Amino acid sequence: MRKSNVIRLFLAAAAAFLFSAATNLGAQSATSAPQKAKPPRSVRLYVFDCGVLHNSDMGRFNLKKEDVTTTDMSMACFLIAHPKGNLIWDTGAVPDDSWKPTGGMVTQHVTLPDGQTRDADVDKTLRAQLAEIGYSLSDINYLALSHYHYDHTGNANEFAGATWLVPQLERDAMFGGKFYGSLQPSTFSALDKSKTIILKNDEYDVFSDGSVIVKAAPGHTQGHQVLYVKLAKTGGVVLSGDLYHYPAEKTLDRVPTFDFSQEQTRASRVAVDAFLKKTGAQLWIQHDFAGNAKLKKSPQFYE
Ligand SMILES: [Zn+2]
Repeated sequence: MRKSNVIRLFLAAAAAFLFSAATNLGAQSATSAPQKAKPPRSVRLYVFDCGVLHNSDMGRFNLKKEDVTTTDMSMACFLIAHPKGNLIWDTGAVPDDSWKPTGGMVTQHVTLPDGQTRDADVDKTLRAQLAEIGYSLSDINYLALSHYHYDHTGNANEFAGATWLVPQLERDAMFGGKFYGSLQPSTFSALDKSKTIILKNDEYDVFSDGSVIVKAAPGHTQGHQVLYVKLAKTGGVVLSGDLYHYPAEKTLDRVPTFDFSQEQTRASRVAVDAFLKKTGAQLWIQHDFAGNAKLKKSPQFYE
């Protein structure tokens, strides 16, 4: 065989190999789970749908039905993906393991230890929403809850392997102390043994670069907190926790009746307002149904 024919044969074989490899890759990405997420170059904020909470008693918020456009509350959970690690902020009301997704909205009847009941509509598990963008529970390095109420701790146990960021007063109330409002201890009992960082100051800079800051905003509960996320394109965002539930609490200056300290809530609102002014950050009221409906949801993200 002449030398040029040998080369031609070799090239044909190489082309066939490359073609089949490319076809296999295409077939694989069409059928298998998404690739494991890589650390992003800059901070990303993902908004997950953790359900809708139906609320029948507006009196608890010092509001009337006429004061709000809807009494329904959104429940958002958030992933902050930072080049140096990942943080989950709030985990909804309904534990993933307590219901089976059907592909449509499922109404869950949540019974609290004190006998109170609430209805929540859920669509996708938090775990599935994380998996969709390439994160498993073990990829989460930090868990921070705005506060201990049941509609924020639903899936807290899932993140017991992460480092929990919590003020001492809040942790004490959760494990045997006096609490205010509704608690579902079975959803966060595993945090008892989690690696924990006790937050002692007004601000905790999670990745030491000023981009993700847990800020004390007590009042709703003893150790209630909000989260500031500084994004390269979007700018600053403050995730409210339950500093407000309905925008009307802000416009009509109302504080819920079941707060640990209404006075502290008012002071925290003034402090957060000053912070928003100083930084130019937007406030996202997590339970604000209309506000939440306008946000991009995962797999889209803010950066
Ligand atoms: Zn809440």
